Amino acid sequence: MTTARIAVLGRGRVPVTEPVLRGDDLGVLHGDGLFETMHLRAGRPWLREAHLERMTRAAPALDLTLPPTGALVGLLDEICVGWPSEVEGALRLVCTRGVADGAAPTAYATLAPVPPSARAARRDGITVATLPLGVPARGRAGLDWLPTASKTTSYAVHNAARRWASRSGVNDALWTSTDGFVLEGPTANVLWLTGGALRTVPAAAGILPGTTVAWLLANAEEVGLTAHEQLATPAELHAADAVWFSSSVRGLVEVRVLDGIDRPRSAYTRRLQALLGFPVPPDDDQPD
Ligand code: PLP
Repeated sequence: MTTARIAVLGRGRVPVTEPVLRGDDLGVLHGDGLFETMHLRAGRPWLREAHLERMTRAAPALDLTLPPTGALVGLLDEICVGWPSEVEGALRLVCTRGVADGAAPTAYATLAPVPPSARAARRDGITVATLPLGVPARGRAGLDWLPTASKTTSYAVHNAARRWASRSGVNDALWTSTDGFVLEGPTANVLWLTGGALRTVPAAAGILPGTTVAWLLANAEEVGLTAHEQLATPAELHAADAVWFSSSVRGLVEVRVLDGIDRPRSAYTRRLQALLGFPVPPDDDQPD
């Protein structure tokens, strides 16, 4: 059985039971840091450059000085050595501000097999309910002090939304804005299909610009689709030909129920999963 791993910048692989953070690390005390989660396939992190670029772009917004990119790449290489190529992995890179009086950030990586629930979601799809986030979609980009497009380690709100989803009997939540638009899930972007176009929410709405959705939109024409970024209401999603959530580890999962309303299965789910290069689960109950 393949088990979880941890590697620390400057120390290399350490036993998973060994402490890697000081108790007063600001990452622990305040969630003050950045992270990236990548999909490990054939033993290599997929879209590694896009993930490192997103982290590098976000660092100035947090006044965070990251270790040199080469050192982060070395850390990722180190943790992947010898990982079985047939085992899909969830690879996380974390850079916190470190301790209050320290100069250096704390950087480490974790690697674990992709949980079976992610593969099940790719095969079966997910149920989703909308959840008001209490912020507008228009105007958030103007709040330039707010690190909206950054993948910070402050996930309290995201975790609360996922707990709300679980209490509400659905697999995931879809945040909506005060001005009536869909935003994103707590750990995923939303995308939808209408009129032969793959669409997603623009980063200007204050969402996290996802690496997975960006890759899908950039390559949509390979499955005969055009790509657009736009705001949409929940009603427009209900009327869409298909709705999906996308994220690095789950990949692309189809929304099969939105706010209690069943949605027909889309043939594009398997096509887009294949385009993404994810192992597509066998299923004989497929639409044409
Ligand atoms: N939006 C949020 C809030 C996320 O946390 C994530 C991923 O965790 C995403 C979107 C999807 O981003 P990516 O495709 O880069 O994993």
